[in-house]
Amino acid sequence: SNIIEVQHLKKYFNTSSGTLHAVDDVSFGIEEGETLGVVGESGCGKSTLGRVILHLLDSTDGKILYRGEDITQVDREKMSELRKSMQIIFQDPFASLNPRMTVYQTIREPMDIAGGFSKEEIDKRVYELMDTVGLARRLVNAYPHELDGGRRQRVGIARALVLNPKFIVCDEPVSALDVSIQAQILNLMQDIQEATGLTYIFITHDLSVVKYISNNILVMYLGQMVEKAESDALFAAP
Ligand code: ADP
Ligand code: ADP
Repeated sequence: SNIIEVQHLKKYFNTSSGTLHAVDDVSFGIEEGETLGVVGESGCGKSTLGRVILHLLDSTDGKILYRGEDITQVDREKMSELRKSMQIIFQDPFASLNPRMTVYQTIREPMDIAGGFSKEEIDKRVYELMDTVGLARRLVNAYPHELDGGRRQRVGIARALVLNPKFIVCDEPVSALDVSIQAQILNLMQDIQEATGLTYIFITHDLSVVKYISNNILVMYLGQMVEKAESDALFAAP
């Protein structure tokens, strides 16, 4: 069944040159445990779509059903509960996170924000996740500038996983990485999905990446969904 169902979603920005239809009447569903690839050229609205679904941005109109419940309408308390189930992985975690936080602090921070965890529980979870994402434990007190891009992204993935989410928006998670490292990170993300049953929205401008990660692809152009197809069909020889 669909974990997420987006219905006629719109996100408009008011800009100096008028109203920008960043997401313009987009509808689709995502099955639990699936990866939905979202592709399209820069500026077509992929990030905005991901952020609106996560409530990092308010929608202008439309519905976002999470397990059947419209989450554009829920109160603050319910939303903070839902936030734990829905996470984001960025292109470079330390472009969006604090460069003065160590690996340990970065991974644990969502547990601090959620509250209710003991120091022992936090330590255990941080080390467990470092193992899961393939980060050597000796790096626990390292700072971002001491890590290469692949290891930084492993930290970003560990942070996203720390509260056991059900759904993750991955916003160009491998675009800043060398091609050889890209495959490692994509494989890691797939292994984690197999182990946990996580659902991903995987945003990328890179068709070879989306082909690798997902068989279900949504193509955006100027804020609109212009195609939703299986990659086999989308990439079939003419
Ligand atoms: P993509 O992720 O596909 O590159 P974005 O979702 O980042 O596209 O952007 C879609 C469009 O919305 C772009 O034209 C962008 O400039 C615009 N946009 C994004 N965020 C804002 C904002 N906060 N205010 C105004 N315009 C924005
Ligand atoms: P991304 O590549 O992840 O979409 P961008 O560099 O496009 O990131 O945007 C970075 C931030 O600036 C985002 O929070 C986005 O919403 C905002 N932004 C993007 N375009 C505009 C714009 N035209 N006006 C105002 N804010 C924007």
